[in-house]
Amino acid sequence: MAHLTDKIRTLLGEPAYAGPLGEAPLDDPACERLLRLLSITRDDELSCEAVFNCLDEYVDCLEGRGDTAGRDLLVAHHLSFCADCRDELVALIHALESAADY
Ligand SMILES: [Zn+2]
Repeated sequence: MAHLTDKIRTLLGEPAYAGPLGEAPLDDPACERLLRLLSITRDDELSCEAVFNCLDEYVDCLEGRGDTAGRDLLVAHHLSFCADCRDELVALIHALESAADY
């Protein structure tokens, strides 16, 4: 796996691991995570920013009140592997539930 690590590091233009005071190492678990994410990435993948910008529409769509212009499947796909966007979705849902209580 070290050979693959070096190849990915080279492709990403990453310097060799500088030790405990340097950048986070591109170690084997990080490489495996990167490769897993690359394997599930679609050609029409949405960015986190694009997902964030349509989360309110996505929540409306989940509740049967709106339309994401066909992006709901792409948003759902992105949410299946992006913890940051899932956190944003949960925060939005909690905020909407709190607002509905008043
Ligand atoms: Zn995301």
